[in-house]
Amino acid sequence: MTKRYDLIVVGAGPAGLTAAKAARECGLEVALLERKTDITNLHRCCGQSLVSMNDYYFGDIFHFNNKGKRMCFPVNRFSLKYDGPSSNIYSWHFYSPDGHIVKLGDAKELKKLGDNGRIAMIHDKEVFFRCLLDEIDKTGVEVFPGINVTDVTKTGENVRVKGGDKNFEATYVIAADGTNSLIAEKMGFNKARDFFCKISSQSFYIRNAKIPELEVALSCPDYVKEIPAFMVIFPWINEDEINAIFLTLDPHLNLDEVTDYFMNKHPIYSKWFKDSEKLRKFTSVESIYSPIREPFSDNVLIVGDAGGTQEVENTGAMISGWRAGNAVATSVIESKVGLKAEGISHYLRWWKETYIDKYSHEDYVKNFTFSYILSGDDLNYLFSLIKEPLAPCFNPYEALNLISQAIQQAAPTIQQERPDILTRLAKMAAPLEEVLTSIRK
Ligand SMILES: Cc1cc2nc3c(=O)[nH]c(=O)nc-3n(C[C@H](O)[C@H](O)[C@H](O)COP(=O)(O)OP(=O)(O)OC[C@H]3O[C@@H](n4cnc5c(N)ncnc54)[C@H](O)[C@@H]3O)c2cc1C
Repeated sequence: MTKRYDLIVVGAGPAGLTAAKAARECGLEVALLERKTDITNLHRCCGQSLVSMNDYYFGDIFHFNNKGKRMCFPVNRFSLKYDGPSSNIYSWHFYSPDGHIVKLGDAKELKKLGDNGRIAMIHDKEVFFRCLLDEIDKTGVEVFPGINVTDVTKTGENVRVKGGDKNFEATYVIAADGTNSLIAEKMGFNKARDFFCKISSQSFYIRNAKIPELEVALSCPDYVKEIPAFMVIFPWINEDEINAIFLTLDPHLNLDEVTDYFMNKHPIYSKWFKDSEKLRKFTSVESIYSPIREPFSDNVLIVGDAGGTQEVENTGAMISGWRAGNAVATSVIESKVGLKAEGISHYLRWWKETYIDKYSHEDYVKNFTFSYILSGDDLNYLFSLIKEPLAPCFNPYEALNLISQAIQQAAPTIQQERPDILTRLAKMAAPLEEVLTSIRK
């Protein structure tokens, strides 16, 4: 006979692991299903940065307790063990194709403040998975690696989850199955969403790259065969290595060509990679939708990237998972003691207030789509106007606003020298569907 759980969590990323931990600590019978056979193994590209340490993000001010080795979310009142290595990010630099840099933060000055000056930190996600899995194992969550969930259906009071030749049943399901969520699609959540595009990435740890400034993150937009493409560089935990991500929104562009262009052909960056060595490779493809506004239906709660636009980021996923695990636990306990089950409504209110209403989700994607509106020459000109470092920031919803404000201050000069660019900049307000017409065909 199929065992009946209070909760099945699908997906053992940051959201699912945190949700399973929270629910189990409240005493629920929890099963965690993950398609990877080794949960601690990272398969997908990730900058492995933790966003954001000098700004509220998802309603919390993320902090790392170096001594206690815990990731802390003081507003949401939880912390997670992390005993792995880390490195700090003090500034976020945006490069134009000819090498003009807009700096969000003055790394040299901020570094003088030590950890209080960091805007984010790098962690080793595989160590984080191991730490969280250890905690989960101790609490008694039943963990099922190697289960690829293929169907979720509501049957009477329960939800049935099918994975391989196994069936699982629970009162509730938390779908933390990531940005291409099968469960969101199967359960009809995507019908109310706009689909914008896909982003394909490949990344490498690279040894001996000669990056001009360490302890900064770099975003380098450019054009390969006139198609927008990006290189994004994060520090990595080993001092002589970086984590370099190459990505494009355009399905016509081959990622090997993008990587080759940035590493071997680009007039500036190719010098950084001379005599460097590509190490471990990761890949990813993300489906980019508008967010799920009402992420609960038929006892299935969608959390983390599965319900967001592109990425809610690692910290957003942990907070979302924590909230979701506790919300389901509240509903289960309410039912058991004969109260009306209202716990999940707390999560829905939090999701609406903290994510849906707070952020402009198209702005997140515009971190990558601005180069569909502006040319390389436009970026070279605009970035050349911003000479001083702007406010330190690693919040993906704020960065573009800070740069836009700096550009606005230079509007009289632009009006005089390059009025054509102002006309194009006005198009930044256009809906994403319009901006991305060429790749949505
Ligand atoms: C190129 C790139 C760079 C990034 N860089 C950063 C960064 O620097 N900082 C940051 O904070 N975030 C970054 N992110 C985003 C970050 O990785 C995600 O926001 C975060 O991992 C979301 O966590 P999650 O638990 O919601 O989903 P995921 O981490 O995607 O976890 C989903 C889990 O569900 C499993 N799964 C999926 N489908 C099924 C199924 N059918 N059955 C069973 N299991 C399933 C997957 O194997 C996976 O383990 C990056 C993402 C990409 C693509």
